[in-house]
Amino acid sequence: MQIDIIGSGFAGLVSACFLAKNGHEVHVHEKNEMVGGRARTFKAEGFTFDMGPSWYWMPDLIDKIFEDLGEKRSDYIDLKRLDPSYRVFWNDKTNTDMPASLEELYRVFDDLEKDGGKKLKRFLEDAQVKYKVGTEKFLEKPGLSLLELIDVEVFKNFFKLDLFKSVEKDVCNRFESYKARSILRFPVLFLGEMPHRIPSLYTLMNYADLKLGTWYPKGGMQQLAQALKQIAEKHGAIFHLNRPVTGLECANNKVTHLNFEGHSKTVEQVVAGADYNFVEQQLIPKEYRRYSPDYWDKRKMAPSSLIYYLGVNKKLENVEHHNLFFDEDLVEHGKQIYDQPEWPDSPLFYACVTSKTEPEVAPEGSENLFLLMPLAPGVEDNEVLREKYLNIMLERMERHTGQSIRGSIVYKRSYCINDFKEDYNSYKGNAYGLANTLMQTANLKPKITSKLDNLVFCGQLTVPGPGVPPALISGKVAAKLVLQKGA
Ligand SMILES: Cc1cc2nc3c(=O)[nH]c(=O)nc-3n(C[C@H](O)[C@H](O)[C@H](O)COP(=O)(O)OP(=O)(O)OC[C@H]3O[C@@H](n4cnc5c(N)ncnc54)[C@H](O)[C@@H]3O)c2cc1C
Repeated sequence: MQIDIIGSGFAGLVSACFLAKNGHEVHVHEKNEMVGGRARTFKAEGFTFDMGPSWYWMPDLIDKIFEDLGEKRSDYIDLKRLDPSYRVFWNDKTNTDMPASLEELYRVFDDLEKDGGKKLKRFLEDAQVKYKVGTEKFLEKPGLSLLELIDVEVFKNFFKLDLFKSVEKDVCNRFESYKARSILRFPVLFLGEMPHRIPSLYTLMNYADLKLGTWYPKGGMQQLAQALKQIAEKHGAIFHLNRPVTGLECANNKVTHLNFEGHSKTVEQVVAGADYNFVEQQLIPKEYRRYSPDYWDKRKMAPSSLIYYLGVNKKLENVEHHNLFFDEDLVEHGKQIYDQPEWPDSPLFYACVTSKTEPEVAPEGSENLFLLMPLAPGVEDNEVLREKYLNIMLERMERHTGQSIRGSIVYKRSYCINDFKEDYNSYKGNAYGLANTLMQTANLKPKITSKLDNLVFCGQLTVPGPGVPPALISGKVAAKLVLQKGA
């Protein structure tokens, strides 16, 4: 059967791999010049930048995708565990490194509060149960029936999953110090909501962070996309880059044609890996849309981001590969993302310097600096605002690390809401898709099926959710559904 895939983000790529491996004629249509979607990369003036994801977490889940494809991840990607995993900067001008070794980590927590190590050990034991049940029992479910959730393991561990307690409550019940609490709140920020609105089930992310660790794929995140492209091509998939799909023609509850600029083609089966909202609301004729504009408007989107890619012509001191600037109040910043969307008064931000691990990504003696500030989706975006916040971030980074940076910037590119919309057709310019609140989890997410019999969705706006591992799994779930339907 001929299968056409819209978009070559991680979800579309994995879908292409599974479908091509099963003998289908797969064509992937990608709007941009490169595969990988939000994990694109670019080079400028000797610097190489990963444009989006930089935290390679849950390596076990990513390895499993390769295994399910009959491949070994290590044949394609050279992974290095980072130690420390990251550095956190605080408002009292101190910083904390998060060591890879658990024993050392317990000692770090002992320094943060009385019995901190013991408390962390217990917390991680509970988080491990959630990780195991969550990843084994929920992640690969298509979210089409409640029966999918009935499982002996889930039943046995139901109360340990803490579905109705928030991350905030769980963390604050167990830890007293501001710093321990902040470190343990951090991973759920990837899920696009504040810890008091995310079920404590997702402290499974703390297990991923602190036990499974932070890794770096040599060559950056784009290597993962290139590896998947290679596997899909090995099985015969054909990639068409710079080819945006401009519409879907439909008849008798089926997609009949994909339209492109200047031509169209007939189709048998379609997998949509581009932003769900865009495909559903812009490409499909109205009568075949499952959701209304009002439905979409009421969805809680994960944040967008202001990003700066900076080339610095000197070595940066006192920074690690990953650096979190938690020197301002998360709750206040969170309010200005989720409750009263506006540019933040005192933002938290993140700095990534991959040249600390892989010097080849910057000219000799230089560093590539990636700054990211989470931002409410849909707010105004212009150059003046971007520059204002660049200065805020750099001033604080200079202050905390005790060096001047602004005078050494030799390359600068910004990326924000307008770019997310322009490059990815991203709804409200979101960066990470749909927030993983309880009411937007599993079966309550936009469905992977559609009103059209031969169209299946995948990607970060549907099951299982945002992030690299979930997006990969989403592609597998969509492919499985297509295969089950008899393709
Ligand atoms: C700045 C940033 C930092 C992040 N950091 C991390 C991190 O550190 N760790 C982590 O795990 N996750 C991170 N994430 C989240 C993660 O990158 C995403 O959840 C994941 O990559 C989404 O993959 P996807 O396939 O669902 O969507 P996308 O990557 O958006 O792929 C969709 C594809 O569809 C294409 N497309 C759109 N419209 C059309 C069209 N009309 N025709 C054809 N193609 C089209 C797009 O060009 C794109 O290639 C980050 C995301 C961002 C933006």
